[in-house]
This record gives sequence, structure tokens and C-alpha cells, in this order.
Amino acid sequence: MKKYSELVITDLKAAAKTLSNDDLVAIPTETVYGLAANAFSENAIDKIYQTKNRPQTNPLIVHLHNFEQLPKVAKTIPKEVELLAAHFWPGPLTVVLEKSDAISTKVTAGKNTVAVRVPNHELTLALLRSLAFPLVAPSANKSNHISPTCPQHVFNSLKEDSPLILDGGICSKGIESTIIGFENHKPTIYRLGSISKEAIEAVLGTSVQLANHEVSSIAPGMQKKHYAPRTPFISCTNLQEELKKYPNKKIGVLFFTENPLAKQMLHYRILSSSGCVEEAMANLYKMMHELDELELDVILSELAPEKGVGASINDRLTRASS
Ligand code: AMP
Ligand code: MG
Repeated sequence: MKKYSELVITDLKAAAKTLSNDDLVAIPTETVYGLAANAFSENAIDKIYQTKNRPQTNPLIVHLHNFEQLPKVAKTIPKEVELLAAHFWPGPLTVVLEKSDAISTKVTAGKNTVAVRVPNHELTLALLRSLAFPLVAPSANKSNHISPTCPQHVFNSLKEDSPLILDGGICSKGIESTIIGFENHKPTIYRLGSISKEAIEAVLGTSVQLANHEVSSIAPGMQKKHYAPRTPFISCTNLQEELKKYPNKKIGVLFFTENPLAKQMLHYRILSSSGCVEEAMANLYKMMHELDELELDVILSELAPEKGVGASINDRLTRASS
């Protein structure tokens, strides 16, 4: 097994060469680290599914370096997408469009739509510009682990299967992209992420619905529990009451902000001392990883205020909850 120090690189040429040989490279983005492969190579795409133990039914997001490349991967581009891309790209917004013939159904898990975005990370944009193909890049962790927001998280999750990791520091946004689709010409958010519903509505000038994954299969991979630590994890609205249920247990608490209860706790993290939802979002996975490593009996977490990206934080906390 290779050591961490042998896998972490900053050399874009080495990363590009590896990808051109149909091998994988973990890449930094503003959301989380991605496990990247040539989006036009079925052989390379197979390696992603194998490495992550990802179900074949869970499609991948294609990463481009600019909006102008979109016609290569998508057949039709609605006006709303032009508007959204002008505001949010490069950035953490993924759009789902009818796929072009260049995109294999291995990318889309058999669907005739493809998910696409332009990530906002200088190193990865430079890498994409140097390649003759786009990249597919799901989060660089084993399926159902917490997503990685720094190179060490990638290595800790993938271990002996870890590919080269392009070191781009800590992910600034810290949770996955927001995904929007346009089925029947109605903008619908498939996954809340680091762009809020309110911010999208402000750009489109119209209200946007949230997909109900219980009754629809438009975004495979969204129905099931996800983003879970190994330690039993419970998100709650009344922390004080919840704490009483675990006498004599080794408890960790993830506070949204400063809380007098922290004084009684041995193991805790505070997502944002000032109560800032963006800061809390950037810290979320890092602190979940940290608490998960303490061999606790249970982790309790406080929900964020349900506005802006607070709703996205709560989506992840609820999914992680066992
Ligand atoms: P990630 O694992 O963060 O890279 O995100 C991949 C997720 O994007 C999948 O689990 C789906 O929910 C969503 N997705 C990808 N492609 C499509 C598609 N063609 N249609 C709908 N949702 C998609
Ligand atoms: Mg993932």
C-alpha cells in the first residue's frame, strides 16, 4: 500500500497524464474532493464505480471548464440554464440536461439526461483546460462515507484504493453542489447543496420546487441514507432533551453555534461561533469526520436555522441520522 505522502501531488502534468491513461485522480473542487476520470472513457468510468463501491444505478456529474463546452455533452440548453450559468459558473450548481451522443449511459446510469457543472477551483480548472476531455467526478470516498473536504480525508476513506490526490487545500464550500433539473420545463431542485434555493429563485425570478425523492426517481442516489459517519448519528431540535436519553454513554455533540451545554461536554465541535450558515457549511464534514474518529457511542447534532444554505446543512444532518 502506498503512503499518503507518495500519493499527494501538486503537479498538474502528472495528473493530466494519469487521467489520459484512463486512471483516476482525486481532484479538489470548492464543494468536496472528486474522484475524477475521463468522461469519454468507459474503461475509466468503470474504475470509479469499482473504487468507490458505487451502485451502477447512481449517475455521475460531468465537470467542464466553461459554459462554452456545454454543447459537447448536452443536446439542448434551456434559457434558464444560460441565466443560471452566467450567475453561478464557475460554481457549485449542477444542471441536469438531455445528454449528447458523446456521453455514455455509463455516466448517466442509463438515463438520457446528464448532470453537468463548472467547478470553481483554480487548480482543477487549469487541469480541465489542459485535457482534451471533460471529467466525471463523484466525491472521492467509498460510497456512503462522509465526503472528503481535504486530501487526508480522501486517503482515509479510499485507503489502499487511493489514487493520486491533487492537493488543492481545503474545500471552501464544504458540501456538495446544488442540483437542478428542468423536467416538463419546471425548474426543480433535485439536491440542496452549497447554493441556496433562495439564491436560485432570485436569479430565475420565479419560485423553484424541491423534488420529492420519496415518490420520484428523477435523481437516483438521492432516496437513500447518505453521508453517514460510522458512529451512530442523531440530529435533533431539542439537544437538552436528547442528551438525557444517553446516560453513561460516550457522547459527542455537533453544535450549530455557541451553546452553554458545551460546558458539560467532553467531546464537541461548534460549526460556527458567530452562527453564520456559510461558515457552518464549510466546517460540517470536517467536524463530522473529527467526531467520527473519537470512537464515541453516539454523536448528537443540532439542526441549523432552516434558511439559505441552513436548509442544505439540515438535509445532510438528517440523511446522516440513523
Ligand atoms: P455526487 O455523488 O455528489 O457526484 O452527485 C451525483 C448525484 O447527482 C447523483 O447521486 C444523482 O442524485 C445526481 N445526478 C447525476 N446525474 C443525474 C441525472 N442524469 N439525472 C438526475 N440526477 C442526476
Ligand atoms: Mg458522494
